[in-house]
Amino acid sequence: MRRPPRRAGRSPRGACRVSSGARRRIVLATHNPHKVAEFQALVASVRSDLDVVPYDGPEPVEDGVTFAQNALIKARAAAAHTRLPALADDSGICVDVLGGAPGVFSAYWAGHAKDAGANLELLLDQLSDVADPHRTAQFVSTIALVTPGGGAETVEGRWPGRLARAASGAGGFGYDPVFIPDGQEEGAQRTVGEWSAEEKNAHSHRARAFAALQPLLERL
Ligand code: IMP
Repeated sequence: MRRPPRRAGRSPRGACRVSSGARRRIVLATHNPHKVAEFQALVASVRSDLDVVPYDGPEPVEDGVTFAQNALIKARAAAAHTRLPALADDSGICVDVLGGAPGVFSAYWAGHAKDAGANLELLLDQLSDVADPHRTAQFVSTIALVTPGGGAETVEGRWPGRLARAASGAGGFGYDPVFIPDGQEEGAQRTVGEWSAEEKNAHSHRARAFAALQPLLERL
């Protein structure tokens, strides 16, 4: 038996559906324009009806001791201030022989000046006596998604590798010039500072966290 045609704009249960042209917004708790562009591209690939808008409200104190805690602090502040669903990420490098440090302190490992060059010089210095097999580390990215109703979820991406003995390459930012990702051919191993942006974006901790975020965005 053929079903009667549905009335336009109604769901099967009779509730109004969002019309195909209706746009929604999700706020991103960062002032970093690179991150805004990265998240806009990711969200657009999953949800064409969702616009990513940067958060410009009051900054919360990031006093968490894990990436997830800090990502949730930022996303909760943005959701509460804007009454929109909110995304935030927190990331860093975790060195095994240092028990996971610098971790959440990656941005200011050498002091509150947040000097990226000084940070990686200090890290290399701390590991100067550590032999190659023990120089293992991971980049970690945690993304939090918080809804105004209080729903909160986090996803994580990890990128394993090891620390070089000296900085090399001018690409990327932060610890990229001293991080050698796993999975490269013996004798042809490069730091992320020597990788192209495309290569990095296809493999990075952030890309891995993005992949885990996709199903959450689809359900939003
Ligand atoms: P944030 O999460 O953007 O605040 O990053 C914290 C810090 O972690 C940065 O300042 C960098 O030192 C380090 N970091 C995070 N992601 C990367 C990366 O992709 N490459 C190099 N360093 C990173």
